[in-house]
Amino acid sequence: MEIIDGKKLAANLRAEIASDAAALKAEKGVTPGLAVILVGENPASVSYVTAKEKACAEAGMYSREIRLPESTTQEELLALVKELNGDSAIHGILVQLPLPKHIADKAVIDAIAPEKDVDGFTAVNVGRMLIGEECFLPCTPHGIIKLIEFSGMDLAGKHAVVIGRSNIVGKPVAVLLSRKETNATVTMCHTGTRDLASFTRQADVVVVAAGRPGTLTGDMLKPGAVVIDVGVNRIKDETRPKGFRLAGDADFDSCAKVARAITPVPGGVGPMTITMLLWNTLEAAKRAS
Ligand code: NAP
Repeated sequence: MEIIDGKKLAANLRAEIASDAAALKAEKGVTPGLAVILVGENPASVSYVTAKEKACAEAGMYSREIRLPESTTQEELLALVKELNGDSAIHGILVQLPLPKHIADKAVIDAIAPEKDVDGFTAVNVGRMLIGEECFLPCTPHGIIKLIEFSGMDLAGKHAVVIGRSNIVGKPVAVLLSRKETNATVTMCHTGTRDLASFTRQADVVVVAAGRPGTLTGDMLKPGAVVIDVGVNRIKDETRPKGFRLAGDADFDSCAKVARAITPVPGGVGPMTITMLLWNTLEAAKRAS
């Protein structure tokens, strides 16, 4: 059984991105720039934003962190996005979700210029991805495809089962897996699926993005399957300094006994998400220069 090392793949890709960013700077005088907007003090969001900025700095990119109070209005946020849309030092704009309840996520995301939508979340980008036009691929789903390839699996003709149908993971993963260039056959499962195991047992690759620990267990797998565990769940654990540990959606121990390869949590999908954000920011800067 192989552990699919997301940290290693992310480090390889980040080294390539850093070298491309340095070349862009040397040849065209352009430093890729990412603006990260954080509204409020959600601890998980604060740590995601900090990690994104650190990764930008390590890749030789410019990042501008804009922290706004919880009381920020939707109009103020929309005005900021508009300003960044016109800022030539900024090639990518990321609005950290979730936003406070009084702000409509969708209105703010769709205000981002599609050419700066490095998260790939705007309706325009999602539509372009669906019909196979040039776009920014959403970071977590793009990272998942890279991880499957890194495990040595050629997806063409394989059966992929995706557990989850969210707009940020399940649906876009299913779209990317079924594109002609990837050519997998895809089954998408959700809480309305009857007998989940009957589908996962047919799968060559299972992508589990349910947000519930223990959704996938070893007895639900075909021997030799590849498992990509997207879930990030905090499990109470008083023996840990922070009082919790992280667990994925797959029961790692039982799945590892049956699978050929599996991503760990942490250290699997997580590091790839930020890496693909850097990838898109570099791409946005290249397209703009
Ligand atoms: P979400 O919006 O809550 O969607 C979960 C999906 O899973 C829903 O479609 C739900 O079905 C389905 N589901 C839940 N329990 C199920 C079950 N027992 N059987 C079958 N389907 C089930 O979650 P999300 O935003 O996609 O995120 C999923 C997980 O990935 C979370 O743990 C999140 O923290 C993690 N995540 C990680 C990264 C990363 O970078 N590592 C990035 C994004 C998300 P219904 O539609 O029927 O409700």
